Amino acid sequence: MSLIADLCNILLPRRCVVCGLTLEPAEQYLCASCSVRLPRYPIRSIGDNEPLRKVWNFAPIQYGATLLYYRHQSDFHNIIIRIKYKGGEQLGIRMGEWAATETARFGLAGKADVIVPVPSDSRRRKRRGYNQAELIARGMGRIMQLPVQDFLVKKQSGTSQTRLDRTARHENTSGKYEAFIPENWRGKRILLVDDVLTTGATIGNCAQALLAADPSAEISIFTLAYDG
Ligand SMILES: [Zn+2]
Repeated sequence: MSLIADLCNILLPRRCVVCGLTLEPAEQYLCASCSVRLPRYPIRSIGDNEPLRKVWNFAPIQYGATLLYYRHQSDFHNIIIRIKYKGGEQLGIRMGEWAATETARFGLAGKADVIVPVPSDSRRRKRRGYNQAELIARGMGRIMQLPVQDFLVKKQSGTSQTRLDRTARHENTSGKYEAFIPENWRGKRILLVDDVLTTGATIGNCAQALLAADPSAEISIFTLAYDG
């Protein structure tokens, strides 16, 4: 098996997602040096933290956690890009598993009954084949032993979010999401998952849609990264 792994590595070298160096056989996605340098976000409490406060501008959220600082100019940006645009399906799931392990000390899994990913535009999803938030959610669900449900849909939008400034983005996401929660899932604690939190508008509007569909639901949030 290790001979096959070695051969694969020679024929098709696996590279670090962040720095591009060839990975050692035991390394997965990140080289040892990049793993150590990961820009971790120091969450001290899941009941009150900066990303969570941003989302409170939009909706009442119980708990919130994030793992990484998101910086456009940083090499670590490549992790998000890879999950988002470059067929990084396994990386997305792996990041979700890692997130579940890292947040275990806060007992996040015990504060949720179901995980719901923030949906992507259905046209974008068709082009890419998957939704990055759903990959993270699937990885988290696997480790937390929680079901993942698509209660949210995004209505068709015209303009790409990245072309809008932050204020416009807020206006653009409001009312863009709809939630459908079956009767047997009402009154549950929902962990809403996305890849990056910036203004909190996207995940906040998703929470609003969930609460409109079920006012008795309790919403918590997790994002892989925080762009604050
Ligand atoms: Zn590296």
